[in-house]
Amino acid sequence: MTDSIPPAEGATPALAQWFAAKAQHPDALVFFRMGDFFELFFNDAERAAPVLDIAVAHRGEHRGQPVPMAGVPVHAWEAYLARLIRAGFRVAVCDQMETPEQAKARRASTIRREVVRVVTPSTVTEDGLLEATRPAWLLALAEAGDGFGCAWLDVSTGGFETMALPKAELGALLARLEPVEAVAERDLAELPELMHRLPGRIAHRVKPRDPARLLREAFGVATLEGFGVFTEAELAAAAQALSYVRETQAGALPRLDPPRPQAGAAGTLALDAATRRSLEILRDQRGGDQATLFGAVNATLTAAGARELAGRLSAPLAEAEAVSARHDAVSFLLGAEATRGALRAGLKGAPDMARALARLALDRFAPRDLAALLAGLRIAASVRDAVLSAVLPAPALMAEAAVALAVEPSLEAELGRALNLQKLPARLEDGGVIAPGYDGELDALRRLRDGGRDAIAALQQDLAQAWGIASVKIRHHQQFGFLAEVPAAPAEKLLRASPVPAGQPLAPIHRQTMANAVRFTCAALADLDRKVAEAGERAAARERACVAHLKRLILAQGDAIARAARALAEVDVHAASATLAAEGGWCRPELTERAEFCIVAGRHPVVEAMQKRARGAAFVPNDCDLSPGRRLCLLTGPNMAGKSTWLRQNALMVVLAQAGLFVPAHSARIGLVDRLFSRVGGGDDIAGGRSTFMVEMAETAAILNQATARSLVVLDEVGRGTATWDGLAIAWAVLEALHDRIRCRAIFATHFHELTALAGRLPEVALASMKVREWRGEVVFQHLVGPGASERSWGVHVARLAGVPRPVLARANQVLSALEARARGGGPDALAEELPLFAQRVSQPAKPLSPIESALAEMDIDALSPREAQEALYRLKALSAEVDAAQHENPVARPSDTVV
Ligand code: ADP
Repeated sequence: MTDSIPPAEGATPALAQWFAAKAQHPDALVFFRMGDFFELFFNDAERAAPVLDIAVAHRGEHRGQPVPMAGVPVHAWEAYLARLIRAGFRVAVCDQMETPEQAKARRASTIRREVVRVVTPSTVTEDGLLEATRPAWLLALAEAGDGFGCAWLDVSTGGFETMALPKAELGALLARLEPVEAVAERDLAELPELMHRLPGRIAHRVKPRDPARLLREAFGVATLEGFGVFTEAELAAAAQALSYVRETQAGALPRLDPPRPQAGAAGTLALDAATRRSLEILRDQRGGDQATLFGAVNATLTAAGARELAGRLSAPLAEAEAVSARHDAVSFLLGAEATRGALRAGLKGAPDMARALARLALDRFAPRDLAALLAGLRIAASVRDAVLSAVLPAPALMAEAAVALAVEPSLEAELGRALNLQKLPARLEDGGVIAPGYDGELDALRRLRDGGRDAIAALQQDLAQAWGIASVKIRHHQQFGFLAEVPAAPAEKLLRASPVPAGQPLAPIHRQTMANAVRFTCAALADLDRKVAEAGERAAARERACVAHLKRLILAQGDAIARAARALAEVDVHAASATLAAEGGWCRPELTERAEFCIVAGRHPVVEAMQKRARGAAFVPNDCDLSPGRRLCLLTGPNMAGKSTWLRQNALMVVLAQAGLFVPAHSARIGLVDRLFSRVGGGDDIAGGRSTFMVEMAETAAILNQATARSLVVLDEVGRGTATWDGLAIAWAVLEALHDRIRCRAIFATHFHELTALAGRLPEVALASMKVREWRGEVVFQHLVGPGASERSWGVHVARLAGVPRPVLARANQVLSALEARARGGGPDALAEELPLFAQRVSQPAKPLSPIESALAEMDIDALSPREAQEALYRLKALSAEVDAAQHENPVARPSDTVV
């Protein structure tokens, strides 16, 4: 493999162009256009070939060495590009800027080529390169003291926002935005989240000199004040993002919304990366999007609506007024059933206007983008009518949407007249985009062209007669234009003796002999051919002018169209939430400023949806009350009883409610939450190289350091990652801290039944447990949350469900009864009879325990995951080997007589 690129000296003229492009864009692969292929050379070819699954060939020589080369056909380049972009590459597209004829005419040794665009993950606009339901954020960071100015923009929709953040909160922002690319001044090695998330996708650029001026000029304003208040670092980041995008578009300017400064972290519900992972809001634990909150509640009908919903779920609000405004919109659409129906009928199949507009602005559009904008404008008008004609008065957000949906109607009318919707071609070059009747001049040129074609058809008859050959056929060839084709036998006669004397308009002129036929032209045909070609060219030019005119009209309304597109997306989200409420019994949550949390008959949207799909047992609704006096709920119950489900469903209520959506419950009253934390104990971060316990404690520390009295904390089995007594001690200390110091609302699920006893001492703790019934010796999970602590741990029953062999279960049951009898104060004799081990221990309490015994005593079998159980077995085995070795060395001093 060639490690680096050789020096450029001595390159052929074409290769010299490649070297120039590469020097301009050293961190990108150069796609070098050569006729019908984009070629990659040298090291680029070798890096790209395995990703593209193509072979590296060698062609020509450079400095005495063959040149490695790999190419992809131009007609399929998008698919190849997509693979490279997904693999983290940037691609500089170096295109041919003239035809070979033009190059020849100016006596140049090679065609002029230029980099017309750098394709990067965040600056693509093609649908094939974008995820339909997710934004493609470019995140720019500008350091300022111990914080960052952040700006993120989405070229594919024009979205542009900024925020100033302390460094510690960058991780949460990354988790929220999931940017596809970043720009920063330097490598931010101290930000492992960033490096981990975007390996190789961080571009380095120096800070722009005068950020404010760059932004003022880009948006054509004298001052940025109208957009809001920015910190210096936010301006620097915004300018950084903007200039990076410009650089990749080789000067073409995307249409962007003016940057909108976000009110720091205060306006949104804080969700850190671990909480997002644990709640599976947009991605499930494996990084997919199957069993996610988004998947369960996404009843939107458009891609833009789905993006809006994803944005709301990943950044729920923390201000009552803003949230209520959204709930008002959903309520309105829930009540106005006819309006909702009309509006959703309109939204179904609505095109992605924002992305079509972005392609138009960058001159990278196809006829279907024009059609999409027309259809979008029509849908906007119909949705607006539906809202305005509702019987109920529209609430603020819906009224605002109706205003935004009103785009200058003459645009829709003009597009409607201009576009040839019945027969829209796939590419602009194919011609036929503009409908007949729209432009007189275009119609005239097309008539001329078509008239010429008719004349040619008539000429075929004349030729047949004049040449005396009935089978003569006039055909059009890409390269030669119109030619008369004659089968070989009559052609021979014609060549030998022409019935029409030379010089006459119909005299045959030989052009080409093929296997079965000969091609001729004649003066009359050549003349018509030229006329048709000319008229065709002029018609095409006129059509291009018409399309450019439409493009100008559209872009003049660009901001209005973008607003309408956003309004459609928002209406789609509100209508989707109303539809879930109407069909699935979801309710409007009541949001208050008090520290309360009261859910009646709540459900887990994802588990419920999965059970419905599997036609399994119906989901059992459960209440949750964390009102003052019972702010902390301590939940116990066996494995598989539904603890995690209940915990998460209550956390998800907060996400949904504060995102402005309805919730799956009979009723819900929620005091606004500023930060939501959700943790599950016992997850290994093997990739991160940290043990279960380390991860658990790091995540717990984050909660204890950041949670406030307005937070909601949901902890599942914290303390499981270590030995029983450690774990219990830590769980207890955490519970106490949440209760006494942080004073937040919390649900705490635990296996440590000992905690429930301790909890009696904390006045704000209420005990709850999962109800379990025993029926003919089988355990039946009722999935019901009830008051009080769980009486037993049911571990043996769960073991049976899991298929542990019967003799083992029977023995475990014996041991369990003995232990329970002892706990009840039953005499030691019963236990001694059952278990020789205990007999000895009870009768000789002073005797020290062997290492194996101590290990066994410390082990809480019910609390072990299968992996932990296996580890425990290995540990015991190792201990026993040590014991054997010790005995072997000193057979007299046996470490313990009590080993059984
Ligand atoms: P735990 O955390 O107690 O081990 P889970 O919450 O993981 O239990 O629940 C185990 C399974 O029980 C779930 O996968 C789900 O299928 C079912 N389940 C949980 N809660 C309910 C419920 N309220 N109604 C119906 N099924 C439930």
